[in-house]
Amino acid sequence: MSAAATPGTPAGALSTAPDAAEAAARAHALFTESFGYEPDGVWSAPGRVNIIGEHVDYQDGLCLPMAISHRCFAAAARTPTDRVRLRSAQDEQVLDIDARELAPGAVTGWPAYVAGVLWALGPHISGATTRGMDILIDGQVPLGAGLSSSAALECAAAEAIEALLSLGTTPLQRVQAAIRAETDFAGASTGGLDQAASVLSRSGHALLLDCRDFSTEPVPWDLAGQGLALLITDTRAEHSHVDGEYAARRADTERAAELLDVPTLREVDPADLEAQLARIEDETVRRRARHVVTEIQRVREVDALLASGSVREHVTALGELLNASHDSLRDDFEVTVPQLDLAVDAARAAGAHGARMTGGGFGGSIIALVEAEQAEPVAAAIAAAFAEQGLTAPGSFLALPSEGAGQDR
Ligand code: ADP
Ligand code: MG
Repeated sequence: MSAAATPGTPAGALSTAPDAAEAAARAHALFTESFGYEPDGVWSAPGRVNIIGEHVDYQDGLCLPMAISHRCFAAAARTPTDRVRLRSAQDEQVLDIDARELAPGAVTGWPAYVAGVLWALGPHISGATTRGMDILIDGQVPLGAGLSSSAALECAAAEAIEALLSLGTTPLQRVQAAIRAETDFAGASTGGLDQAASVLSRSGHALLLDCRDFSTEPVPWDLAGQGLALLITDTRAEHSHVDGEYAARRADTERAAELLDVPTLREVDPADLEAQLARIEDETVRRRARHVVTEIQRVREVDALLASGSVREHVTALGELLNASHDSLRDDFEVTVPQLDLAVDAARAAGAHGARMTGGGFGGSIIALVEAEQAEPVAAAIAAAFAEQGLTAPGSFLALPSEGAGQDR
């Protein structure tokens, strides 16, 4: 099977996600070709971008992700055995294992994200139920671009497994199973924002997520209807030492909370921020705390703007908040890399209302809020800036706020 093309920027034309119905039909056909019989159904889940609210999840903060148009599809069928067979159109590795042998460490590589979901859903499966199934994965979300192909994969699998085994789990239980699959089974780290966005997002809306209790609220974020667009650019910057850097940032924020005698930085009143920061002697820890507190405040401001009017009515103020978020991540939290800063600067100079890195940083993607007709010129300006510096060409595409995980056919 061939690798799916990463969405890129062919000269003059911005790609969008392939049509979902066609993609589901393709997954269905690939399953049939691969396993020699028809699947019971096709399920899918989207990747995501975080509009604002970065590096605040582990301090009980608020964030505002949206599901993107690119999805991961899972064509699947139940089999009358306990064998689990997994294949992907994007990776040659296959898995064939007895479901009763699933345990952390038992599966490596990409199949761990899917097998981990079946393992994590274990408590919802009655003992007598056989767990055999065949799953064919076909994903559109570029891998490792900070758009959460991993959550899309887990959440598509969770929908398929829920339906095949008639589990009766709630969407939030599937979010939790997907998180456990990634952290406890695949051994990667995730705060849960990605999985919540992939499962719980609503078309035309962003999702306000309160990381304190995982409660969510859809927030109107209709771009297409207002002549606006969200341009996503994958900088293709190499990630390195990311895990160590994340751990260090997290430790800095925990240290700050300790010094301020609060359980988490969520408790710090932004109106009293300067006085609070003055209590922190270490200059680095002080800047980390300032990012978290001001970022949570920016999410509140974005939410308030969207509650009082459309994106169009508040586009200038929203753009400024996106810009302030990026500047804080660059200067106070120090999680950007030159490619992220360059892409953001080029987008702003080319007329974006606002632009910021999205995701954990140290590589990955940026988002730019632009007039619909400006999307191509802004993407071209970013590509030109990268070319001028001899950097790997970035990939730009458009995404609409999309529906969370579900069944396609
Ligand atoms: P991101 O989630 O930002 O794309 P991650 O490193 O968290 O980056 O997840 C990428 C990994 O997820 C890949 O290396 C692969 O193991 C797995 N993955 C995602 N989508 C697919 C797919 N369609 N087929 C096979 N593996 C996939
Ligand atoms: Mg991921």
